[in-house]
Amino acid sequence: MKFAIMTKGDSKSNSYMHKMKTYLQDFELVWDEHEPDIVISIGGDGTLLYAFHRYSSRLNKTAFVGVHTGHLGFYADWVPEEIEKLVIAIAKTPYQIIEYPLLETIIRYQHGGKETRYLALNEATVKSVEGTLVMDVEIRGQHFERFRGDGLCVSTPSGSTAYNKALGGAILHPSIPAIQLAEMASINNRVFRTIGSPLVLPAHHTCMLKPVNGPDFMVTIDHLTLLHKDVKSIQYRVAAEKIRFARFRPFPFWKRVHDSFIADK
Ligand code: NAP
Repeated sequence: MKFAIMTKGDSKSNSYMHKMKTYLQDFELVWDEHEPDIVISIGGDGTLLYAFHRYSSRLNKTAFVGVHTGHLGFYADWVPEEIEKLVIAIAKTPYQIIEYPLLETIIRYQHGGKETRYLALNEATVKSVEGTLVMDVEIRGQHFERFRGDGLCVSTPSGSTAYNKALGGAILHPSIPAIQLAEMASINNRVFRTIGSPLVLPAHHTCMLKPVNGPDFMVTIDHLTLLHKDVKSIQYRVAAEKIRFARFRPFPFWKRVHDSFIADK
């Protein structure tokens, strides 16, 4: 089996990487940064986001596992003290694969040009470059509302505990193939009106945004921030691809939610 390790880059995470690399090679696993069967991320959830984007072109051939060197993560739930246990599990046990849904974003441009497609593990957001974002929101090809406000966030179920949660969105179990549209500070008064509640769309529904007051936008895809000019539309739906996590022991999602946000530790 071939493996790769990505770290947060700090000295603590790097030293765990060297330790783990040596252990795994002792078990005759092969270090291969280009075509790994398993990618180990050491750091936090942010590190796993980087690892996901690094290997997003081979998701069906790669499984991810996360070790956290800081606080408990949603994607990084092993602690450094368990590294030896994890190495033995990777080397000796046929592991279970858990798949989580991803978000597909397609940006099309006003004057033709090739559309851009992104996959997100957490979410995609859109904000205006300056002033209020004004977007017509279509759901399943039907006009739904004209949004005015700071921005919009479309998240995956596993990303629902990240930015989406800060926006008042619901936490979705990652076994649900859905995306969630959440507002950032919408303008609501007697003239302008938006739904105000986060919307959860099933896999066969598409959400399309069409610019009303200008073609340039700041788009984020997970940790990446990108300026898109001349935008005609931005389309969101549940991606055909999924991320695969290598699972060696049960760690129920609701326990992770509890331990991350409720537990006093
Ligand atoms: P960052 O600003 O350095 O860290 C964002 C925080 O979000 C970190 O504490 C990270 O955990 C945590 N996080 C990432 N994915 C998560 C998930 N699925 N569930 C719960 N927490 C999660 O940025 P970054 O590390 O590059 O991560 C980018 C992410 O930041 C974006 O995808 C977005 O979700 C999030 N973000 C949140 C807000 C907000 O809450 N207001 C605003 C902007 C962006 P670790 O410490 O374990 O890495």
